[in-house]
Amino acid sequence: MAIEKVGVVGAGQMGNGIAHVFALSGYDVLLTDISQDALDAGRETITHNLDRQIHRGTITEADRDTALGRIETTLTLTDLGPTDLIIEAATERETVKTAIFEDLLPHLKPETILTSNTSSISITRLASRTDRPEKFMGFHFMNPVPVMQLVELIRGIATDKPTFDTLHGLVETLGKTASTSEDFPAFIVNRILMPMINEAIYTLYEGVGSVRSIDTSLKLGANHPMGPLELADFIGLDTCLAIMNVLHDGLADTKYRPCPLLTKYVEAGWLGRKTKRGFYDYSGEEPVPTR
Ligand code: NAD
Repeated sequence: MAIEKVGVVGAGQMGNGIAHVFALSGYDVLLTDISQDALDAGRETITHNLDRQIHRGTITEADRDTALGRIETTLTLTDLGPTDLIIEAATERETVKTAIFEDLLPHLKPETILTSNTSSISITRLASRTDRPEKFMGFHFMNPVPVMQLVELIRGIATDKPTFDTLHGLVETLGKTASTSEDFPAFIVNRILMPMINEAIYTLYEGVGSVRSIDTSLKLGANHPMGPLELADFIGLDTCLAIMNVLHDGLADTKYRPCPLLTKYVEAGWLGRKTKRGFYDYSGEEPVPTR
């Protein structure tokens, strides 16, 4: 199926990145959120990130202007009705995602493909709540979307081959690389990454090391580009906790128990970079550890 117009739901860090790469690859994008502030911040971030690409010499000013011209924003979810592909990138909560698809469905064309950028929630279960489980897939971009090469494709139990093939082809048009995961909790990347981050938080919780020691150890000792606590702040601690809960509930294994310190940070509203405080405080020039 030809995809020309793409509807992106959620203008947070993932939604704006997804809008950015689709617009730059020639697709028309309609971006929606429940918050006008999120839409405004999203457009500002896209502009800023396109400018960085100009400075790096990977795109021209004309590319930026054309891409920005292809992105429209709206507070009205049902404006996404005429799009060919929906990419849901709202908050990682199943009730939020299900409600979005329920509200959208009556306004969509029958052939529109539905996808979710969820990091962990069952694609099969999300799909089963729609009128077209065969046209529903997990479309998991990595953060930051304009920079990261991988897109994980997750087939629900009912997803048909034309839908998979369409999305696989689409990933190539974005200049990215697809990997395929079966639909089990947290798929491949987060099944492996998130328990490592959770273990780093346990290492802090049990006093084995400080924030800086833990991050330095993994950066210089395992050649990771970012330390696990720095990465957790970057992803968002609420998202990390939500993914650990999905692993814990879905696989019923105590090895996935979220660290109580992660829960405490989320309860405090210390969600990482997006709230300027997590394992580091980002209010000054340089990030400062909060423990
Ligand atoms: P975020 O908190 O930055 O943004 C979420 C946005 O969704 C907010 O702007 C919020 O206003 C909006 N929203 C909430 N309810 C909505 C609704 N009903 N309709 C429209 N918009 C709504 O979160 P994020 O990090 O961008 O994550 C979004 C999704 O992407 C989640 O499913 C997450 O698991 C997934 N994801 C995140 C990462 C990451 O590193 N952060 C990586 C891959 C995938």
